[in-house]
Amino acid sequence: MQYELVIVGGGPGAVAAGIYAARKKIKSMLVADSFGGQSIVSAHIQNWIGVPSFSGLEMAEVLEKHLRMYAGDVLEIKTGVMVQKIEKNSSGFKVTTDENKSYETKAIILVSGSRRRKLTVPGAEQFDGKGVVYCATCDAPLFNGKEVAVIGGGNAGLESAEQLLEHATKVYILNRSEEFKGDLITKERIFKNPKLVPLVNADIAEVKGDKFVTGLSYKDTKTGEIKEIVVQGIFVEIGSVPNSDMVKGLVDITLSGEVAIDHKTARTNVEGIWAAGDVTDQPYKQNNISMGDAVKALEDCYLWLQRAK
Ligand SMILES: Cc1cc2nc3c(=O)[nH]c(=O)nc-3n(C[C@H](O)[C@H](O)[C@H](O)COP(=O)(O)OP(=O)(O)OC[C@H]3O[C@@H](n4cnc5c(N)ncnc54)[C@H](O)[C@@H]3O)c2cc1C
Repeated sequence: MQYELVIVGGGPGAVAAGIYAARKKIKSMLVADSFGGQSIVSAHIQNWIGVPSFSGLEMAEVLEKHLRMYAGDVLEIKTGVMVQKIEKNSSGFKVTTDENKSYETKAIILVSGSRRRKLTVPGAEQFDGKGVVYCATCDAPLFNGKEVAVIGGGNAGLESAEQLLEHATKVYILNRSEEFKGDLITKERIFKNPKLVPLVNADIAEVKGDKFVTGLSYKDTKTGEIKEIVVQGIFVEIGSVPNSDMVKGLVDITLSGEVAIDHKTARTNVEGIWAAGDVTDQPYKQNNISMGDAVKALEDCYLWLQRAK
């Protein structure tokens, strides 16, 4: 049997594509490790348009419920399964999963997202979610009146620091080299804030804490000296890793591992494969954007499938 479409992912983007596919009666399968995507760990999602505030777990439940409500006998849903490889064949594509099964499909929409590059220093894993956090947009308000540190001096780090300045009493920003890499305009805007403490040549060495984070130590890479600061929150902004391994060698991928797409249609360079959301080279990584972009991919894919009939 050949599917018309296989959607890879279980985050907001994949669910949006799935709902649209089911309602357009496209014979599809959605393959996902799990439902919810990256922000499932968030305690408060406050920018989901139409819902003032809910937790990541509640978001995951709503997404799955909505998808199942419209799936009917048109959209098959496989969870707890990872796609390992996507290959081109004579009639379309072969999708191989970690269950050692393979499926044939005419089209693919890849919405496999990304995972945050984790901090690997001692204490980072132990205090993950207990003061070590990965999203200022989501969690900055939880650190009202507290002292925090941002790890990473690129644009993401600077923008996180900027959001934190609205809530925290002091924001350290640790940059491994002498120069902050982020945009000059952002630097100019935030560096004049007296609550911001930039630390250059500062390489985080250890996260310290008891039940929650209480501070961190870092190495001054110029002098070799180990220094300590007291903070209650550590915001990690050292990049993310797109989940694009299954299409490596098949579609164009940027140096940072993102799937390159045409932003008008969400097409990759391979006819029959679309991609949307955090796995792609679109610069703004947010739930609402992933959903909108996945809908765009689905609409374009739908027209393509219609033309191929
Ligand atoms: C802690 C945190 C909090 C956040 N909070 C917010 C917020 O409040 N508001 C906001 O707008 N954005 C927030 N974001 C960003 C937001 O989560 C992402 O932009 C969004 O999840 C991207 O959606 P996506 O569907 O593209 O990918 P993802 O959410 O990454 O979903 C990818 C899905 O694909 C599945 N998958 C991956 N690889 C495979 C595979 N090989 N086979 C099968 N399935 C696979 C994963 O299990 C997952 O279900 C947050 C991010 C983090 C990390």
